[in-house]
Amino acid sequence: MLRIMNYATPESLDEAYALLTKNKKNMILGGMIWLKMEDIQIPTAIDLSKLGLDQIEEEDAEFKIGAMVTLRQLETHESFNKATCHVFRDAVKDIVGVQLRNLATVGGSVYSRFSFSDVICSLLCLECDVQTHAHGRISLEEFISLPYEKDIVEYIYVKKTNLPSAFVSVRKSATDLSVLNASCTKYADHYRFCFGARPAIAKVYNCDLDHIDLDVYCADNMRGSKEYREKLVEGLTQKLLRKVESYVG
Ligand SMILES: Cc1cc2nc3c(=O)[nH]c(=O)nc-3n(C[C@H](O)[C@H](O)[C@H](O)COP(=O)(O)OP(=O)(O)OC[C@H]3O[C@@H](n4cnc5c(N)ncnc54)[C@H](O)[C@@H]3O)c2cc1C
Repeated sequence: MLRIMNYATPESLDEAYALLTKNKKNMILGGMIWLKMEDIQIPTAIDLSKLGLDQIEEEDAEFKIGAMVTLRQLETHESFNKATCHVFRDAVKDIVGVQLRNLATVGGSVYSRFSFSDVICSLLCLECDVQTHAHGRISLEEFISLPYEKDIVEYIYVKKTNLPSAFVSVRKSATDLSVLNASCTKYADHYRFCFGARPAIAKVYNCDLDHIDLDVYCADNMRGSKEYREKLVEGLTQKLLRKVESYVG
């Protein structure tokens, strides 16, 4: 059972960070979708809802997405999806159901860095940065390579590249975790592929346009064997290429 001893609603990110680092067991609350299943006691739970982080701001070159924006807000944001070939919508549409996606936050999803994450796999093929309190603005690729530490994910930035991109995944049933997920963006001189739930976290693989040679490391877990995943890599690569090329025209 999750037990919360004190509940804080800080008025600034500095105050939130000071509270977070005051005790190693203090925690930031996202949508609490994952946290509520944990058997832990939190001395001070820090709710960021007073900090205006639930907004998607469209700027000239990029989208600035607050950490408290829900998966559903992004999934249904017309302009964001249009500028990113609906990659995010396609990635999250099978995550449990609308009620869960109305609660789960982008910040909680990025901070958690779950190996099965469809959210990370989709954002990784886009030009995406993460702003955290401790590190400032860094690429998502760099962020997911960092060890877990006391930090606050504040904003996610996604560039408006308008490049052809696609997301695909294989699930045993519609709402289960992905056996393998994959995304791809086509640049002028290369493809950027990402494969996640291998079962390890999503990883980027860059390839020349005329020579697709993907050495994706896969392994076994309860959802699928290494060999099965390796076959899926081939199939999902073909699917991604068909989708990406169909956007080109
Ligand atoms: C039943 C179930 C099925 C799921 N299936 C999928 C799936 O198929 N694909 C997929 O991609 N995801 C899936 N998820 C994960 C989900 O999409 C969210 O990523 C996850 O629940 C975390 O979101 P949250 O906002 O509720 O975070 P919380 O549960 O509130 O927090 C999770 C962790 O993140 C920390 N945290 C939250 N916000 C921040 C922040 N701004 N800065 C720093 N730390 C923060 C918390 O302290 C905690 O450690 C599933 C989750 C559940 C419960």
